Amino acid sequence: NFSAEAVPQAPEDPLFGLVRAFKADQHPTKVDVSVGAYRDNTAKPWVLPVVKKVRTLLSGIGFPLAPLLHVCGHTVYAISVADEILRNDPNLDHEYAPIAGIASFTSKAAELILGSGSPAIPEKRVTSVQTISGTGAVHLGALFLSRFFTGTKKVYVSNPTWVNHNQIFSNVGIPVAQYPYFSKQTKGLDFDGMKAALAEAPERSIILLHACAHNPTGVDPTLDQWKEIATLIRQKNHFPFFDTAYQGFATGDLKKDNAAVRYFVEQGFELVIAQSFAKNFGLYGERAGCFHFVTSPAPDASETVTRVASQLAILQRSEISNPPLYGARIVSTVLNDPQLFAEWEENLRTMSGRIIEMRKVLRAKLEELGTPGTWNHITDQIGMFSFTGLTEPQVLKIREEAHVYMTKNGRISMAGLNTNNIDYFAKAVDKVVR
Ligand code: PLP
Repeated sequence: NFSAEAVPQAPEDPLFGLVRAFKADQHPTKVDVSVGAYRDNTAKPWVLPVVKKVRTLLSGIGFPLAPLLHVCGHTVYAISVADEILRNDPNLDHEYAPIAGIASFTSKAAELILGSGSPAIPEKRVTSVQTISGTGAVHLGALFLSRFFTGTKKVYVSNPTWVNHNQIFSNVGIPVAQYPYFSKQTKGLDFDGMKAALAEAPERSIILLHACAHNPTGVDPTLDQWKEIATLIRQKNHFPFFDTAYQGFATGDLKKDNAAVRYFVEQGFELVIAQSFAKNFGLYGERAGCFHFVTSPAPDASETVTRVASQLAILQRSEISNPPLYGARIVSTVLNDPQLFAEWEENLRTMSGRIIEMRKVLRAKLEELGTPGTWNHITDQIGMFSFTGLTEPQVLKIREEAHVYMTKNGRISMAGLNTNNIDYFAKAVDKVVR
Protein backbone atom coordinates (compact mmCIF):
# COMPACT_ATOMS: atom_id res chain seq x y z
CA ASN A 1 0.00 0.00 0.00
CA PHE A 2 1.12 3.53 -0.70
CA SER A 3 1.88 5.55 2.35
CA ALA A 4 3.12 9.10 2.03
CA GLU A 5 5.04 8.77 5.30
CA ALA A 6 7.06 5.98 3.78
CA VAL A 7 8.42 8.21 0.97
CA PRO A 8 12.02 8.85 1.90
CA GLN A 9 13.65 12.24 1.53
CA ALA A 10 15.73 12.33 -1.66
CA PRO A 11 18.98 14.26 -1.73
CA GLU A 12 18.95 17.63 -3.49
CA ASP A 13 20.43 17.59 -6.99
CA PRO A 14 24.06 18.43 -6.22
CA LEU A 15 24.47 20.85 -9.12
CA PHE A 16 21.33 22.83 -8.43
CA GLY A 17 22.22 22.85 -4.72
CA LEU A 18 25.49 24.48 -5.67
CA VAL A 19 23.68 27.11 -7.73
CA ARG A 20 21.55 27.96 -4.70
CA ALA A 21 24.60 28.24 -2.45
CA PHE A 22 26.31 30.51 -4.98
CA LYS A 23 23.29 32.83 -5.19
CA ALA A 24 23.17 33.09 -1.38
CA ASP A 25 26.89 33.89 -1.13
CA GLN A 26 27.35 37.66 -0.74
CA HIS A 27 31.11 37.73 -1.23
CA PRO A 28 32.02 40.41 -3.80
CA THR A 29 34.55 38.31 -5.71
CA LYS A 30 32.63 35.01 -5.75
CA VAL A 31 33.09 32.94 -8.90
CA ASP A 32 30.64 30.42 -10.37
CA VAL A 33 32.26 27.76 -12.51
CA SER A 34 29.71 25.07 -11.70
CA VAL A 35 26.88 25.23 -14.21
CA GLY A 36 27.30 24.28 -17.86
CA ALA A 37 25.79 27.43 -19.28
CA TYR A 38 27.60 30.02 -21.38
CA ARG A 39 28.40 33.37 -19.78
CA ASP A 40 29.81 36.41 -21.54
CA ASN A 41 32.91 38.28 -20.42
CA THR A 42 30.84 40.07 -17.76
CA ALA A 43 29.65 36.74 -16.30
CA LYS A 44 26.12 37.32 -17.65
CA PRO A 45 23.95 34.92 -19.67
CA TRP A 46 24.27 35.71 -23.36
CA VAL A 47 21.26 35.79 -25.66
CA LEU A 48 22.72 35.03 -29.07
CA PRO A 49 22.25 38.02 -31.40
CA VAL A 50 20.73 35.71 -34.02
CA VAL A 51 18.24 34.44 -31.44
CA LYS A 52 17.33 38.01 -30.49
CA LYS A 53 16.68 38.75 -34.12
CA VAL A 54 14.45 35.72 -34.62
CA ARG A 55 12.60 36.45 -31.37
CA THR A 56 11.59 39.84 -32.72
CA LEU A 57 10.53 38.19 -35.93
CA LEU A 58 8.42 35.55 -34.19
CA SER A 59 6.73 38.13 -32.03
CA GLY A 60 5.06 39.37 -35.18
CA ILE A 61 6.66 42.76 -34.94
CA GLY A 62 9.24 41.89 -37.50
CA PHE A 63 12.64 43.42 -37.85
CA PRO A 64 14.13 45.39 -40.69
CA LEU A 65 16.03 42.77 -42.64
CA ALA A 66 19.54 43.91 -43.29
CA PRO A 67 19.74 45.33 -46.77
CA LEU A 68 22.11 43.26 -48.82
CA LEU A 69 22.82 45.48 -51.75
CA HIS A 70 21.95 48.80 -53.20
CA VAL A 71 21.26 48.35 -56.87
CA CYS A 72 20.64 51.49 -58.93
CA GLY A 73 19.34 53.28 -55.89
CA HIS A 74 17.01 50.42 -54.91
CA THR A 75 17.57 48.41 -51.77
CA VAL A 76 17.66 44.65 -52.35
CA TYR A 77 16.77 42.51 -49.36
CA ALA A 78 17.71 38.92 -48.70
CA ILE A 79 14.80 36.65 -49.56
CA SER A 80 14.85 34.25 -46.70
CA VAL A 81 12.69 31.75 -44.92
CA ALA A 82 12.56 34.22 -42.07
CA ASP A 83 11.19 36.76 -44.49
CA GLU A 84 8.61 34.23 -45.67
CA ILE A 85 7.41 33.57 -42.14
CA LEU A 86 7.10 37.26 -41.56
CA ARG A 87 5.09 37.88 -44.71
CA ASN A 88 2.89 34.82 -44.51
CA ASP A 89 2.30 34.40 -40.83
CA PRO A 90 2.82 37.58 -38.84
CA ASN A 91 0.73 36.28 -35.94
CA LEU A 92 1.95 32.79 -35.25
CA ASP A 93 -0.63 30.85 -33.30
CA HIS A 94 -0.18 28.53 -30.36
CA GLU A 95 -1.86 25.41 -31.65
CA TYR A 96 -0.48 21.95 -30.81
CA ALA A 97 2.60 20.86 -32.69
CA PRO A 98 2.38 17.45 -34.38
CA ILE A 99 3.30 14.56 -32.05
CA ALA A 100 6.74 14.21 -33.64
CA GLY A 101 7.26 17.96 -33.54
CA ILE A 102 7.75 20.67 -36.15
CA ALA A 103 8.88 18.95 -39.34
CA SER A 104 10.95 21.91 -40.59
CA PHE A 105 12.83 21.72 -37.28
CA THR A 106 13.39 17.95 -37.06
CA SER A 107 14.48 17.59 -40.68
CA LYS A 108 17.09 20.35 -40.38
CA ALA A 109 18.18 19.03 -36.97
CA ALA A 110 18.90 15.68 -38.66
CA GLU A 111 20.86 17.39 -41.43
CA LEU A 112 22.88 19.29 -38.89
CA ILE A 113 24.07 16.26 -36.97
CA LEU A 114 24.32 13.80 -39.88
CA GLY A 115 25.68 16.30 -42.39
CA SER A 116 23.42 17.67 -45.13
CA GLY A 117 24.98 15.30 -47.68
CA SER A 118 24.39 12.18 -45.61
CA PRO A 119 22.95 9.40 -47.81
CA ALA A 120 20.95 8.20 -44.80
CA ILE A 121 18.53 11.10 -45.40
CA PRO A 122 17.52 10.51 -49.07
CA GLU A 123 17.59 6.76 -48.41
CA LYS A 124 14.90 7.37 -45.76
CA ARG A 125 16.94 5.67 -43.07
CA VAL A 126 16.28 8.33 -40.45
CA THR A 127 13.32 9.18 -38.29
CA SER A 128 13.37 12.16 -35.95
CA VAL A 129 11.21 13.24 -33.04
CA GLN A 130 11.31 16.64 -31.38
CA THR A 131 11.92 16.29 -27.65
CA ILE A 132 12.18 18.22 -24.40
CA SER A 133 15.76 19.27 -25.11
CA GLY A 134 18.64 16.80 -24.83
CA THR A 135 17.39 15.28 -21.59
CA GLY A 136 14.08 14.42 -23.23
CA ALA A 137 15.90 12.95 -26.21
CA VAL A 138 18.07 10.72 -24.03
CA HIS A 139 14.95 9.69 -22.13
CA LEU A 140 12.91 8.91 -25.25
CA GLY A 141 15.82 6.87 -26.61
CA ALA A 142 16.21 5.00 -23.33
CA LEU A 143 12.46 4.34 -23.14
CA PHE A 144 12.35 3.13 -26.73
CA LEU A 145 15.29 0.77 -26.14
CA SER A 146 13.76 -0.49 -22.89
CA ARG A 147 10.72 -1.60 -24.91
CA PHE A 148 12.20 -2.78 -28.17
CA PHE A 149 15.94 -3.46 -27.92
CA THR A 150 16.56 -7.17 -28.33
CA GLY A 151 20.26 -7.21 -27.44
CA THR A 152 21.74 -7.05 -23.94
CA LYS A 153 19.62 -4.53 -22.08
CA LYS A 154 22.49 -2.84 -20.37
CA VAL A 155 23.98 0.55 -21.17
CA TYR A 156 27.68 1.29 -20.82
CA VAL A 157 28.44 4.91 -20.01
CA SER A 158 31.82 6.57 -19.65
CA ASN A 159 33.34 6.91 -16.19
CA PRO A 160 32.64 9.71 -15.48
CA THR A 161 29.67 10.89 -17.52
CA TRP A 162 26.93 13.51 -17.37
CA VAL A 163 25.36 12.47 -14.06
CA ASN A 164 21.82 12.43 -15.43
CA HIS A 165 22.62 9.53 -17.77
CA ASN A 166 22.61 7.16 -14.81
CA GLN A 167 19.12 7.98 -13.57
CA ILE A 168 17.56 8.40 -17.02
CA PHE A 169 18.50 4.83 -17.98
CA SER A 170 17.88 3.23 -14.59
CA ASN A 171 14.46 4.93 -14.39
CA VAL A 172 13.35 2.97 -17.47
CA GLY A 173 14.83 -0.25 -16.13
CA ILE A 174 18.03 -0.37 -18.15
CA PRO A 175 20.96 -1.21 -15.85
CA VAL A 176 23.97 1.09 -16.17
CA ALA A 177 27.57 -0.11 -16.31
CA GLN A 178 30.68 1.97 -16.87
CA TYR A 179 33.65 1.92 -19.19
CA PRO A 180 36.89 3.64 -18.11
CA TYR A 181 37.31 6.98 -19.85
CA PHE A 182 39.38 9.48 -17.95
CA SER A 183 42.97 8.85 -16.92
CA LYS A 184 43.84 10.57 -13.66
CA GLN A 185 47.51 10.34 -14.59
CA THR A 186 47.41 12.02 -17.99
CA LYS A 187 44.13 13.91 -17.42
CA GLY A 188 43.36 12.67 -20.92
CA LEU A 189 41.61 9.64 -22.41
CA ASP A 190 42.14 6.19 -20.87
CA PHE A 191 41.87 4.68 -24.32
CA ASP A 192 43.18 1.23 -23.42
CA GLY A 193 40.82 0.99 -20.47
CA MET A 194 37.90 2.06 -22.63
CA LYS A 195 38.69 -0.44 -25.37
CA ALA A 196 39.17 -3.29 -22.92
CA ALA A 197 35.77 -2.60 -21.33
CA LEU A 198 34.00 -2.42 -24.70
CA ALA A 199 35.62 -5.72 -25.68
CA GLU A 200 34.56 -7.36 -22.41
CA ALA A 201 30.98 -6.06 -22.42
CA PRO A 202 28.39 -8.71 -23.36
CA GLU A 203 27.61 -8.88 -27.10
CA ARG A 204 25.01 -6.35 -28.29
CA SER A 205 25.23 -4.01 -25.34
CA ILE A 206 24.19 -0.35 -25.60
CA ILE A 207 27.19 1.99 -25.63
CA LEU A 208 26.58 5.62 -24.75
CA LEU A 209 29.02 7.97 -26.47
CA HIS A 210 29.40 11.74 -26.20
CA ALA A 211 29.60 13.03 -29.77
CA CYS A 212 31.96 15.87 -28.82
CA ALA A 213 33.04 18.03 -25.88
CA HIS A 214 32.64 15.25 -23.32
CA ASN A 215 30.85 16.27 -20.14
CA PRO A 216 32.39 16.45 -17.53
CA THR A 217 35.96 15.85 -18.67
CA GLY A 218 36.39 17.91 -21.85
CA VAL A 219 38.34 14.94 -23.23
CA ASP A 220 37.38 13.61 -26.68
CA PRO A 221 38.81 10.71 -28.68
CA THR A 222 40.71 11.69 -31.83
CA LEU A 223 39.15 10.68 -35.15
CA ASP A 224 41.58 7.75 -35.38
CA GLN A 225 40.53 6.64 -31.92
CA TRP A 226 36.86 6.95 -32.93
CA LYS A 227 37.63 4.63 -35.84
CA GLU A 228 39.06 2.03 -33.46
CA ILE A 229 36.07 2.43 -31.18
CA ALA A 230 33.77 1.87 -34.18
CA THR A 231 35.68 -1.30 -35.13
CA LEU A 232 35.31 -2.67 -31.61
CA ILE A 233 31.64 -1.81 -31.45
CA ARG A 234 31.14 -3.55 -34.78
CA GLN A 235 33.05 -6.66 -33.63
CA LYS A 236 30.87 -7.00 -30.56
CA ASN A 237 27.64 -5.96 -32.32
CA HIS A 238 27.13 -3.25 -29.73
CA PHE A 239 24.53 -0.54 -30.26
CA PRO A 240 25.83 3.07 -30.33
CA PHE A 241 23.78 5.71 -28.54
CA PHE A 242 25.21 9.18 -29.26
CA ASP A 243 24.51 12.11 -27.00
CA THR A 244 25.26 15.44 -28.71
CA ALA A 245 24.80 18.52 -26.56
CA TYR A 246 27.67 20.71 -27.81
CA GLN A 247 27.82 20.67 -31.62
CA GLY A 248 29.51 23.87 -32.80
CA PHE A 249 30.22 24.84 -29.24
CA ALA A 250 33.35 22.73 -28.93
CA THR A 251 35.50 23.92 -31.81
CA GLY A 252 33.22 26.58 -33.27
CA ASP A 253 32.94 24.39 -36.38
CA LEU A 254 29.70 22.44 -36.73
CA LYS A 255 31.27 19.99 -39.17
CA LYS A 256 34.25 19.18 -36.97
CA ASP A 257 31.99 18.63 -34.00
CA ASN A 258 29.82 16.00 -35.69
CA ALA A 259 32.73 14.04 -37.19
CA ALA A 260 32.29 11.03 -34.91
CA VAL A 261 28.57 10.68 -35.63
CA ARG A 262 29.14 11.13 -39.36
CA TYR A 263 31.82 8.46 -39.31
CA PHE A 264 29.60 5.92 -37.56
CA VAL A 265 26.71 6.60 -39.96
CA GLU A 266 29.08 6.33 -42.95
CA GLN A 267 30.13 2.93 -41.60
CA GLY A 268 26.51 1.83 -41.84
CA PHE A 269 25.76 1.47 -38.12
CA GLU A 270 22.22 1.39 -36.86
CA LEU A 271 22.25 3.91 -34.01
CA VAL A 272 20.37 6.59 -32.13
CA ILE A 273 21.21 10.21 -31.38
CA ALA A 274 20.00 12.51 -28.61
CA GLN A 275 20.50 16.12 -29.68
CA SER A 276 20.25 19.27 -27.61
CA PHE A 277 20.07 22.89 -28.78
CA ALA A 278 20.37 24.25 -25.24
CA LYS A 279 24.04 25.17 -25.40
CA ASN A 280 24.69 25.95 -29.03
CA PHE A 281 21.66 28.26 -29.27
CA GLY A 282 21.72 29.46 -25.65
CA LEU A 283 18.13 28.21 -25.40
CA TYR A 284 18.57 26.34 -22.11
CA GLY A 285 15.12 26.93 -20.68
CA GLU A 286 13.24 26.61 -23.97
CA ARG A 287 13.89 22.87 -24.17
CA ALA A 288 14.55 22.43 -27.90
CA GLY A 289 15.93 19.01 -28.71
CA CYS A 290 15.59 16.09 -31.06
CA PHE A 291 15.86 12.30 -31.03
CA HIS A 292 17.02 10.53 -34.18
CA PHE A 293 16.90 6.86 -35.07
CA VAL A 294 19.15 5.91 -38.00
CA THR A 295 19.02 2.45 -39.48
CA SER A 296 21.64 0.63 -41.58
CA PRO A 297 21.46 0.53 -45.38
CA ALA A 298 19.11 -2.34 -46.31
CA PRO A 299 16.38 -2.90 -48.90
CA ASP A 300 13.71 -2.67 -46.20
CA ALA A 301 15.32 0.26 -44.34
CA SER A 302 12.47 2.69 -44.98
CA GLU A 303 9.90 0.17 -43.67
CA THR A 304 11.99 -0.29 -40.53
CA VAL A 305 12.04 3.45 -40.05
CA THR A 306 8.27 3.72 -40.55
CA ARG A 307 7.66 1.08 -37.89
CA VAL A 308 10.10 2.68 -35.46
CA ALA A 309 8.51 6.09 -36.05
CA SER A 310 5.07 4.68 -35.26
CA GLN A 311 6.28 3.34 -31.90
CA LEU A 312 8.13 6.55 -31.04
CA ALA A 313 4.92 8.45 -31.69
CA ILE A 314 3.04 6.25 -29.21
CA LEU A 315 5.72 6.73 -26.57
CA GLN A 316 5.84 10.47 -27.16
CA ARG A 317 2.04 10.75 -26.96
CA SER A 318 1.87 9.07 -23.57
CA GLU A 319 4.74 11.10 -22.17
CA ILE A 320 4.29 14.66 -23.42
CA SER A 321 1.61 14.46 -26.18
CA ASN A 322 3.48 17.00 -28.27
CA PRO A 323 6.61 19.05 -27.81
CA PRO A 324 6.85 22.79 -27.04
CA LEU A 325 6.89 25.23 -29.94
CA TYR A 326 8.89 28.29 -29.10
CA GLY A 327 12.49 27.08 -28.92
CA ALA A 328 12.02 24.81 -31.92
CA ARG A 329 10.55 27.71 -33.93
CA ILE A 330 13.63 29.79 -33.21
CA VAL A 331 16.03 26.99 -34.14
CA SER A 332 14.02 26.05 -37.21
CA THR A 333 13.97 29.63 -38.48
CA VAL A 334 17.75 29.81 -38.21
CA LEU A 335 18.48 26.38 -39.66
CA ASN A 336 16.23 27.01 -42.65
CA ASP A 337 17.69 30.36 -43.59
CA PRO A 338 21.21 30.61 -45.03
CA GLN A 339 21.74 34.17 -43.87
CA LEU A 340 20.60 33.53 -40.32
CA PHE A 341 22.53 30.27 -40.31
CA ALA A 342 25.73 32.16 -41.13
CA GLU A 343 25.01 34.57 -38.31
CA TRP A 344 24.51 31.66 -35.95
CA GLU A 345 27.86 30.19 -36.98
CA GLU A 346 29.43 33.55 -36.18
CA ASN A 347 27.77 33.53 -32.74
CA LEU A 348 29.08 30.00 -32.16
CA ARG A 349 32.59 31.17 -32.97
CA THR A 350 32.19 34.01 -30.48
CA MET A 351 31.27 31.56 -27.70
CA SER A 352 33.80 28.85 -28.49
CA GLY A 353 36.50 31.44 -29.19
CA ARG A 354 36.06 33.09 -25.80
CA ILE A 355 36.23 29.71 -24.07
CA ILE A 356 39.35 28.67 -25.96
CA GLU A 357 40.94 32.00 -25.04
CA MET A 358 40.09 31.46 -21.35
CA ARG A 359 41.75 28.04 -21.51
CA LYS A 360 44.94 29.59 -22.84
CA VAL A 361 44.98 32.36 -20.25
CA LEU A 362 44.25 30.03 -17.33
CA ARG A 363 47.00 27.61 -18.29
CA ALA A 364 49.49 30.46 -18.77
CA LYS A 365 48.62 31.97 -15.41
CA LEU A 366 48.98 28.68 -13.52
CA GLU A 367 52.29 27.99 -15.23
CA GLU A 368 53.46 31.52 -14.47
CA LEU A 369 52.56 31.07 -10.81
CA GLY A 370 54.49 27.78 -10.79
CA THR A 371 51.41 26.00 -9.44
CA PRO A 372 52.47 22.43 -8.62
CA GLY A 373 51.46 19.87 -11.28
CA THR A 374 51.07 20.08 -15.04
CA TRP A 375 48.41 22.26 -16.67
CA ASN A 376 48.55 21.33 -20.34
CA HIS A 377 45.24 19.47 -19.91
CA ILE A 378 43.48 22.83 -19.56
CA THR A 379 44.21 23.61 -23.21
CA ASP A 380 44.12 19.98 -24.42
CA GLN A 381 40.55 19.54 -23.18
CA ILE A 382 37.72 20.89 -25.27
CA GLY A 383 34.26 22.44 -24.98
CA MET A 384 32.43 23.87 -22.01
CA PHE A 385 34.22 21.94 -19.27
CA SER A 386 37.61 21.24 -17.88
CA PHE A 387 38.43 18.49 -15.43
CA THR A 388 41.02 20.33 -13.40
CA GLY A 389 42.28 17.42 -11.32
CA LEU A 390 41.41 19.26 -8.10
CA THR A 391 40.49 16.80 -5.36
CA GLU A 392 37.28 16.94 -3.35
CA PRO A 393 38.99 18.45 -0.26
CA GLN A 394 40.55 21.11 -2.52
CA VAL A 395 37.16 21.85 -4.08
CA LEU A 396 35.62 22.34 -0.63
CA LYS A 397 38.53 24.49 0.47
CA ILE A 398 38.42 26.77 -2.58
CA ARG A 399 34.69 27.25 -1.99
CA GLU A 400 35.15 28.09 1.68
CA GLU A 401 38.19 30.29 1.36
CA ALA A 402 37.88 31.90 -2.06
CA HIS A 403 34.10 31.62 -2.75
CA VAL A 404 34.81 29.72 -5.96
CA TYR A 405 32.01 27.24 -6.76
CA MET A 406 32.76 24.10 -8.75
CA THR A 407 31.37 20.54 -8.65
CA LYS A 408 33.11 18.26 -6.21
CA ASN A 409 34.74 16.19 -8.95
CA GLY A 410 36.89 19.23 -9.81
CA ARG A 411 35.02 20.08 -13.00
CA ILE A 412 34.91 23.73 -13.99
CA SER A 413 32.77 25.40 -16.61
CA MET A 414 35.25 27.44 -18.63
CA ALA A 415 32.44 29.85 -19.49
CA GLY A 416 32.37 31.01 -15.87
CA LEU A 417 35.82 32.55 -16.33
CA ASN A 418 36.40 35.96 -17.85
CA THR A 419 39.09 38.62 -18.08
CA ASN A 420 37.89 40.14 -14.77
CA ASN A 421 38.00 37.02 -12.60
CA ILE A 422 40.58 34.71 -14.18
CA ASP A 423 43.50 36.16 -12.26
CA TYR A 424 41.64 35.75 -8.96
CA PHE A 425 40.60 32.23 -9.96
CA ALA A 426 44.13 31.14 -10.92
CA LYS A 427 45.54 32.46 -7.64
CA ALA A 428 42.80 30.65 -5.69
CA VAL A 429 43.64 27.39 -7.48
CA ASP A 430 47.33 27.95 -6.86
CA LYS A 431 46.68 28.43 -3.14
CA VAL A 432 44.64 25.25 -2.64
CA VAL A 433 46.96 23.10 -4.73
CA ARG A 434 50.06 24.05 -2.72
N1 PLP B 1 23.81 15.48 -22.54
C1 PLP B 1 24.91 16.04 -22.03
C2 PLP B 1 26.21 15.33 -22.16
C3 PLP B 1 24.84 17.26 -21.38
O1 PLP B 1 25.95 17.81 -20.90
C4 PLP B 1 23.58 17.89 -21.27
C5 PLP B 1 23.47 19.16 -20.52
O2 PLP B 1 24.26 19.52 -19.71
C6 PLP B 1 22.47 17.26 -21.85
C7 PLP B 1 22.63 16.06 -22.46
C8 PLP B 1 21.07 17.78 -21.86
O3 PLP B 1 20.83 19.06 -21.66
P1 PLP B 1 19.43 19.70 -22.00
O4 PLP B 1 18.38 18.76 -21.51
O5 PLP B 1 19.44 20.98 -21.26
O6 PLP B 1 19.38 19.86 -23.46
